[in-house]
Amino acid sequence: MLNIGCHLSISNGYEAICKEALGLGANTFQFFSRNPRGGKSSPVSPDDAKAMEVFMSENSFAPVLAHASYTMNLCSADEKVRDFANRALKEDLEKLEMIPCNLYNFHPGSHVGQGIEQGISFIADALNNAVTENQKTVVLLETMAGKGTEVGRCFEELREIIDRVNFSDKIGVCLDTCHVFDAGYDIVNDLDGVLAKFDDVIGLERLRAIHLNDSKNPMGSHKDRHEKIGEGYIGLDAIVRIINHEKLKNLPFFLETPNDNEGYAAEIKLLREKVL
Ligand code: FE
Ligand code: FE
Ligand code: ZN
Repeated sequence: MLNIGCHLSISNGYEAICKEALGLGANTFQFFSRNPRGGKSSPVSPDDAKAMEVFMSENSFAPVLAHASYTMNLCSADEKVRDFANRALKEDLEKLEMIPCNLYNFHPGSHVGQGIEQGISFIADALNNAVTENQKTVVLLETMAGKGTEVGRCFEELREIIDRVNFSDKIGVCLDTCHVFDAGYDIVNDLDGVLAKFDDVIGLERLRAIHLNDSKNPMGSHKDRHEKIGEGYIGLDAIVRIINHEKLKNLPFFLETPNDNEGYAAEIKLLREKVL
């Protein structure tokens, strides 16, 4: 069974969003851990968390994925921005312990000219400050497109961060298909080679989720513009090979394509039909 969902926003609580996802043909979903512009995060109602747990188990949901806000830059050159990001990371992880969500994804950050080494070191410090030994949540570093000074544009940079985290069994990776293609990894013509490289550098056991997106730009563009499934440079055939790949097919897949709910439902239906 293909575990697939899309990005949805929490408006009426966690059980409501599970129902919304199921209505779209999904059995998981991704949501922002807080308002995407940053700001204060809303409290969790224990009744809602319990209802979410029951609903997820009754409907065979795969793990759901919380996405940190895009503005959380753990390696900013501005100390105030870094402090805010560090607080947000800690708060997000504390909150996630209260709901049945065991995956949290974040963009490693942009080093804004301080250099990759400084960037990696700030990110590892932040993780060491926030990740606890007994937390349920696995924290995922997202593979990035390499736009501007983004950290995480190659597998080696992610590996370097993981190596510096104390409780590194709590750290995994979320592979974004648009981003890795944009970063220059040829998942269209050499998916096996890219996965072998991932395994070699990071280890496939760290790979816990896939952001499934097509790309508006050719391989290696470093632009990070997502496209609808089958309408970009990755194309439907390559995406079908990804969801059916022996080493990937049991992971949860999350669509972040430019769609409304109707568009997401159509993509989920299409991809379910393409399962071999
Ligand atoms: Fe992301
Ligand atoms: Fe993504
Ligand atoms: Zn993106």
